[in-house]
Amino acid sequence: MVPAFRLLLPVALSCFTLHAESASPGLRLGLLTGAAETLPGPLVTALREETSRLLPLPGLEIHWRDLEGRSGKETFDHLIIVRFHGSCSPFTPARAVLPPGPLGITHISDGQILPFIEANCAQLTSAARRLRRVPFRLDHESLGRALARVVAHEIYHVLSDSGRHDRHGLSKAALTPADLFLPGGGFEPAALNRIAERLALPPASQLVSTMP
Ligand SMILES: [Zn+2]
Repeated sequence: MVPAFRLLLPVALSCFTLHAESASPGLRLGLLTGAAETLPGPLVTALREETSRLLPLPGLEIHWRDLEGRSGKETFDHLIIVRFHGSCSPFTPARAVLPPGPLGITHISDGQILPFIEANCAQLTSAARRLRRVPFRLDHESLGRALARVVAHEIYHVLSDSGRHDRHGLSKAALTPADLFLPGGGFEPAALNRIAERLALPPASQLVSTMP
C-alpha cells in the first residue's frame, strides 16, 4: 500500500504577519524566500514553472523574491514567506526512509491563516524513495516540481483564506508519492474558484486549463 503523506494541517503559532502593500494594476503575488535557502538552479526553475502551472489564475502574477535582498520600493498585493526545511538535493545520500510526516505547513494564529508557509524537503525525498512501481528518477527537476506541489497547496490555503480540503486534486489533505512526483495533476476547478473568489479574479470556469 502506498502511504499517503499528511500535508498541511495548519498549526497554531504566534507569528508575525505581513500587511498587503499598495495595490497595482493586476494582482501581484510575492513569494519571498530566505537568502540562506540557496537551492540548485535547475530545481528553482522547475519549482517556479510548476508553481505557475498549478495556479493558472488570469490576472495573478507570481513573483519570486529574495526576502533579505528585496527592494522596499517594489509593491505586492499579497506577500507570502516560503521557507524550506531539510536538504533540497536529490543527491543527498539515502538514509532510512522517514516515517510519513507533514510535507508542508501553513501557520495560523487565533484562527487566522498567516502568509507564512513551510515545505519539508527531507520528507519529499523520503517520499520519492517509496515510489517504486513506475519508472522514475529523482533529479533536480522532479524534486522541484514536487516541491512546487507542496508550496502550491499551502498557497491555496493562504490565498483562499480557507483550511478546507477536497477529495480530489492538489487540495487533498494527503498526497501520495505518485501525486507528488508523477507528471500532470493539479487543483480541481472548485479549489481554484475559492482562490479566485477570494481575490476577485475570474472564476475557474473561465480558465484555460494548462494541465496535461
Ligand atoms: Zn492543506
